[in-house]
Amino acid sequence: MNLILLGCPGAGKGTQSKLLAQRYGLAHIATGDLFRAQIAQKTALGQKVESYLKSGTLVPDSIVVEMVAGKLGECSSGWLLDGFPRTLEQAQALDKMLKSEGKTIDMVLYLNMDEKAVLARMTTRRSCASCGELYNTISKPPTTEGKCDKCGGELKQRDDDQETTVKKRLMVYEDLTRPLIAYYRSEHAFNEVNGNQPMEKVTGELVAFVDQAKVAR
Ligand code: AMP
Repeated sequence: MNLILLGCPGAGKGTQSKLLAQRYGLAHIATGDLFRAQIAQKTALGQKVESYLKSGTLVPDSIVVEMVAGKLGECSSGWLLDGFPRTLEQAQALDKMLKSEGKTIDMVLYLNMDEKAVLARMTTRRSCASCGELYNTISKPPTTEGKCDKCGGELKQRDDDQETTVKKRLMVYEDLTRPLIAYYRSEHAFNEVNGNQPMEKVTGELVAFVDQAKVAR
């Protein structure tokens, strides 16, 4: 099964994608995570993209598309895209790539979220520097402040989760990514979930839709 999870920054795509990918045995392809790993490893790609992530702007389409094409080539038993596509050009490049391989997108899931709530959620978001586990100082605090429950690693705030950068990322989302909702609504199996609900409820609704996609295959 091939799935796309769409939604604004902070809508909960990362948390929900991890759960869904694990549940359905899909490769979780999160472009933001892939870029952060490249930056941490100080690779040539990491150096190329670092300034875009820091400023909350998008990495140029050609760079993202090339990276995703490489990743898709590695996973034959289905994938879940998280954070890609983010522009119409990326969506069209993905369609072209899939068409040439006789593959399709089984479902696009859209996490619809009130953007005011997003700002509050993102500025309180923390992640473990060692294992990547996600926390929130209000809705999902760790047992010991600043320490990961899973591995004891140090919890950090992402550079781009500072308020001014979050605002910039939301503007970029409105301008460049929101048009994808209309694109996918008209061309693909598309379902929407209210992302303002408690995490478990969101997961339950996403799972119900993915089960439908499974039956439809
Ligand atoms: P995320 O973790 O998905 O919020 O992504 C963090 C940052 O990585 C974004 O603000 C962009 O700078 C960059 N990025 C991730 N995915 C993409 C994409 N599909 N297109 C362009 N830039 C991206």
